[in-house]
Amino acid sequence: MTQALHQILIVEDEPDIRGILRTLLRTAGYRVIETETAARAIVEARSHKPDLLLVDLGLPDADGLKVIRSIREWSPVPVVVLSARTMEAQKIEALDAGADDYVTKPFSAPELLARVRAALRRNVRSAEQVPTLQIGAVVVDLTRRQASGAEGDVHFTPLEYRVLESLARQTGMIVTQRQLIAEAWGPDKLGDSRSLRVCIKNLRQKLEPDPARPQFLLTEAGVGYRLLLPSE
Ligand code: CA
Repeated sequence: MTQALHQILIVEDEPDIRGILRTLLRTAGYRVIETETAARAIVEARSHKPDLLLVDLGLPDADGLKVIRSIREWSPVPVVVLSARTMEAQKIEALDAGADDYVTKPFSAPELLARVRAALRRNVRSAEQVPTLQIGAVVVDLTRRQASGAEGDVHFTPLEYRVLESLARQTGMIVTQRQLIAEAWGPDKLGDSRSLRVCIKNLRQKLEPDPARPQFLLTEAGVGYRLLLPSE
């Protein structure tokens, strides 16, 4: 198992939750290190260079956001946030600060492990720079900006390609509306969440077998979108 090599840093101040996470992750074959504070998390991340961080947003000495911002100054390591259901705005802030995904407490074991696996895969993919996507029946070449499906060529607009590119860089992860708008529209043009919704709707028409029940281009209500590929 390759995941036996992966080391995960848990940053969580509640001993019960930390214990559950430790058992869960060790049973799944990961190596685990733990801290309770933001200050220690930053130190441990630097000295151990873990393969993934699980960061609680409510820490005793500082906001978990501080950990994410500090880590992102020097490392692209995957970060999955643990958040309470009531902290919706903070969750979005954490994603915009560079977190890759989040798990809402109370979480289920399979959900948490799936998020961890996806986040670890994301790290591998960005290193490989895979330019071709297979989304259902449609194969998209992001470099040449060509796409074909079961019934021949599929035409995407430049904007649709840029939105796909943003999502594809972090397949399986949530990309916030703000991030998608910033990346796809660029700093000069003013995109908004309504234009983004229209763009996503058009992409679904071209990619999804049933655009009303998307399987690949998923909405995370109020937060953003997620591109899920069948192989994952
Ligand atoms: Ca906490």
